[in-house]
Amino acid sequence: MKKKIILFLAILVLLAMPSFATIEEQIDEVDKKIEESSSNIEQLEQNIEEEEKNLEVVSVSLEETLVQKQALEARIEQTKNNIITVENKIKELKEKIKKAKAEIQAQEKHFGARLRSIYYKKDETFWTVIFDAEGIEDLMTRLSSFEKITQQDDKTLNDLIDKRNQLAKMEEEQKNNLLNLESLKSAQEKDKADLIAVEAELERRKSELQARIAEHKSLMQQEQSQAAQFQQEKDDLLAEAERIRLENYNKNNNTEEGENVELPPIDTGTGWVYPAPGTFITYWFGYRVHPLYGTDDWHSGIDMIGDFGNPIYAARGGLVVVAGWYGGFGNCVVIDHGDGLQTLYGHGDSVLVSVGDQVSQGQHIMVMGSTGTSTAPHLHFSVLYGGDYVDPAPYIGL
Ligand SMILES: [Zn+2]
Repeated sequence: MKKKIILFLAILVLLAMPSFATIEEQIDEVDKKIEESSSNIEQLEQNIEEEEKNLEVVSVSLEETLVQKQALEARIEQTKNNIITVENKIKELKEKIKKAKAEIQAQEKHFGARLRSIYYKKDETFWTVIFDAEGIEDLMTRLSSFEKITQQDDKTLNDLIDKRNQLAKMEEEQKNNLLNLESLKSAQEKDKADLIAVEAELERRKSELQARIAEHKSLMQQEQSQAAQFQQEKDDLLAEAERIRLENYNKNNNTEEGENVELPPIDTGTGWVYPAPGTFITYWFGYRVHPLYGTDDWHSGIDMIGDFGNPIYAARGGLVVVAGWYGGFGNCVVIDHGDGLQTLYGHGDSVLVSVGDQVSQGQHIMVMGSTGTSTAPHLHFSVLYGGDYVDPAPYIGL
């Protein structure tokens, strides 16, 4: 029953200020847009941060790939030089083999000629040696010395053949060497081709990431300028709300200060009383993401915007510990509730209690105004627990 009456009275208040309600709706709408814009900006910032991290990783990989490619190129160069060295060795060996073959041929020719002249043409020396022999023993001696000469020829030829065979073996070895080097070179060339493919892929990813970052940065710029526009819209609406409230205040200033009886305290359903009925909330507790500069605005309470002269009620009973000017809060009341909780009411036009007063819940303690750091009549409502500011919303059923 009580709630119904309160609702009825609240509707009466809103009906008395039709453009006030419209502006409230408009501010709500702009707030939604600002919130959406802020979350878009946050998302874009996250994207850019992630993409920049990826870009860093890709750039480092690319750098490493280039270093690997350079090292591989040096190794390929080394292999090529080794191949040239081996090819030269083979050429040299071929020359030597050719020369050895010629020597063998010459020796064979010389040896053959001697044998032929000795055995077939009946070389005079041989026969002289035989016929001049004085007895069998002399003949044997003569024949044996002749044998020595032919043995010498034989040995020379065999040495030459050995030498040629050795050279041929060396050539074979070098040819194997060359084959190994050629296969090493093609393996290295393949590795290089693989690295070039990796490099191309990394380059592609790098430019893709750079393009995406640029795109997201430009989107963020657009979003920031839109957010700034929404903020401007909100500021304009707040100024307009203030103008209308001042107008209403001037119209209704026959109401005695502190006697705005059509705004009784509201039971919030939490055991606390709503401290400023007939108002709407413009700023909540905590960090407000600034559309242009990030999260630099911290608000220690909830701002409830209303009219000059509106009543401010004690949310709970307790002991008044501040009553009067209180820095940026202007005219201010602080009530200590005795269980670690305190409530603070700022920017009042006038204060209706004194320090040391014991106030009861719902007691009219202050008149709404715009004193201290304030541009429009409103209540700044804070809740402190153990001396720290906490979010007042849940205490007053918001
Ligand atoms: Zn405030």
